[in-house]
Amino acid sequence: MNTTNQVNNQFIDLDFDAKHLWHPYTSMNNALPTYGVVSAEGVELTLNNGTKLIDGTSSWWACVHGYSHPKIVAAMQHQTAQLSHVMFGGITHRPAVELARMLVDMTSERLTKVFLADSGSIAVEVAMKMALQYWQGRNNPNKQKILTVKSGYHGDTFAAMSVCDPEGGMHTMFGELVTEQLFAPEPKARFTECFDAEELQSISNMLEDNHQQIAAVLIEPIMQGAGGMRFYHAEYLSALRKLCDKYDVLLILDEIATGFGRTGKLFAYEHANVEADILCLGKALTGGYISLAATMCSDEVAQGVSDSPAGVFMHGPTFMGNPLACTAAIASLELINEQHWQTQVSSIESQMKTELAEAVDYTNVVDVRVLGAVGVLEMKSTLNTAALQQQFVDLGVWIRPFSNLIYIMPPYTISSCQLTQLTSAMKAVAKQISLPSNDTNFISHG
Ligand SMILES: *Cc1c(COP(=O)(O)O)cnc(C)c1O
Repeated sequence: MNTTNQVNNQFIDLDFDAKHLWHPYTSMNNALPTYGVVSAEGVELTLNNGTKLIDGTSSWWACVHGYSHPKIVAAMQHQTAQLSHVMFGGITHRPAVELARMLVDMTSERLTKVFLADSGSIAVEVAMKMALQYWQGRNNPNKQKILTVKSGYHGDTFAAMSVCDPEGGMHTMFGELVTEQLFAPEPKARFTECFDAEELQSISNMLEDNHQQIAAVLIEPIMQGAGGMRFYHAEYLSALRKLCDKYDVLLILDEIATGFGRTGKLFAYEHANVEADILCLGKALTGGYISLAATMCSDEVAQGVSDSPAGVFMHGPTFMGNPLACTAAIASLELINEQHWQTQVSSIESQMKTELAEAVDYTNVVDVRVLGAVGVLEMKSTLNTAALQQQFVDLGVWIRPFSNLIYIMPPYTISSCQLTQLTSAMKAVAKQISLPSNDTNFISHG
């Protein structure tokens, strides 16, 4: 009996899907094509027609060890049978305690307190609430603004939206529901370029003029992800840490995309040798098996929050600390702690550098950049995601362009031969794009 085949023949009603199911950033009037996936193993997704695709996305940064990893699957199966969920109010359990212990050990010394939330956007909301309550507890209730940089992405909920790039993001469409925050220019010097401290002048001026209103600076360390896949200089981040100290504002680092090895360091802030006061983790936290996020903070922040008039931190979701999700995270972090990711990520990095380099000469490619296990071709103009997606599927790979970017962040476990298939597909598609392509009428993060 061939069970794999039975699974592969599973019927998925794509018409029903198109009529009734929202997908990320899609229209219900003009549904984009979707592909039915029935299973996934290692770095391959299997479609319902049996086609196998090499995954270049890690399901949006998350699936770092590949799909159906026996260790994570076994841990989750065992935990499901034992305790898949219990409320976290007044109750605790081993998965939450052990996960918190691992996170405290893995992250920088200052980060000692862990808040477990459901998703990255919520982790960002929690971080911002913590910062505001901290200053209330330190008798400084006027510090309510967040200072951030342009081209950032921090999630889709309202507070998270307020710190996303004001142009590419969703500020104007929701009017006053989106709080006005302070935006400095995005970091300019690239990761590998020379750094000129002059570029911090404007953020420094903003801090000087407004620090009495600023609770925290919030930024993605080293890599700005969905806001444009930009890799910036480590000295920018270390200088920013110093400015936060000088002007007495907290530093919130959003490591949701970069955490757990993706940029070549366990956490991207290690490139700059800085410590956050508040740190957001998500995406790869569970190895991509189930949604979970964490917001960590220092003793000082936790004490300030607890000294605030409320006397408690004002957040507590229903599925807080979900044991099944914590178990997946523990299994994933145990794999991370085996340290294979370091050699995997650095060989992915050097292979992508070699194989993508020639694309810089293609007429429609503006820039080629690689950092850790992230490879990007920046194109001259906005791409037609649906059309290019089909081309990638035809080439046997799952790569999802957005805006003007063709990029990959594969699972760390990808083989060199599979990676070559990804980079070849990127080059083939980038080469043949005939610009301008005006048949796309939206820019999609999805
Ligand atoms: C994806 C992402 C988020 C939002 O996480 P969700 O789990 O999608 O809510 C926040 N910040 C960064 C940097 C991200 O990449």
